[in-house]
Amino acid sequence: MKRGIVLGLLLAAGTIGALKAQQQEAKVIDVDKVKDNLYVLKGGGGNTAVFITPDGVTVVDAKNPGWGQPILDKIKTITEKPIVRLINTHTHGDHVSGNVEFPATIDFVAQENTKANMEKMDIFKQNNNRGMAKRTFKDKMTIGKGADEIDLYYFGRGHTNGDAIVVFPALRAAHIGDLFAGKSIPLVDPANGGSVIRYPDTLKKAHAGIKNVDTLINGHSNTTTTWADLQTYQEFNQEWTAWAEAGLKAGKTPQQLADEGWTVPAKYSGSGYPATVANPKTPPTNPALFGGLTGRIQTLADEMKKK
Ligand SMILES: [Zn+2]
Repeated sequence: MKRGIVLGLLLAAGTIGALKAQQQEAKVIDVDKVKDNLYVLKGGGGNTAVFITPDGVTVVDAKNPGWGQPILDKIKTITEKPIVRLINTHTHGDHVSGNVEFPATIDFVAQENTKANMEKMDIFKQNNNRGMAKRTFKDKMTIGKGADEIDLYYFGRGHTNGDAIVVFPALRAAHIGDLFAGKSIPLVDPANGGSVIRYPDTLKKAHAGIKNVDTLINGHSNTTTTWADLQTYQEFNQEWTAWAEAGLKAGKTPQQLADEGWTVPAKYSGSGYPATVANPKTPPTNPALFGGLTGRIQTLADEMKKK
């Protein structure tokens, strides 16, 4: 009897394990319709945009390794039109790895620094550079016209040194990637040219330099944000950087500052931002990206020394 129960539990545990494996295997993508011909595919890394025009489909970002084919399969459920183009907002693995599963013949587009960063990545080396950017731009590029127009912008260093904003002017919408990943302290990747010190200014230039956009697809947030949200994010970014800079100038170490934390002004915490930003009291089980908050303040400290 007892043995039967134990065996049953073991079988149940085995089934749950198999289900979990299946779910991971299934690579579930959720679809949000942003406009009649613009969709967001969520799951498996950064948000993917799908822009459908009479000539075909433009995709923005391709998620983690192994998620390229699931993206292609999901697009087939939305439209019969062929994929003509893949644009990457920046170099990170959760935005470009799926590139290698896209048809090699389509157009691959990225900011020029992002292409240089992508060329250093193992996934492209391992796939004979399949999915590597074929066309690049420095500050601005326009593809197509009228209802099909796509404008790409680069305003300077922030999350990386190649963050593209992809605008669909006819839809008053844009994919802003991880330059505005969501309502939280920005992630900054110094190894790929990101800059804490330049970030607020880059956001300011983006907000001033692009006209007639209402809806933003963010790198990682679950819902879209607005153009006004970008302005708030810029101010939030400016204030957190000023807090960290003042603390460093007062002689505190990045670790001390990150442990003490920043009490986020109420105007931000009331609109979707966290109430405080600090190192977790107990170490997280997964190592934090880019050294967590301490790492970001350390990046700022390094940049202040170079100034
Ligand atoms: Zn990123």
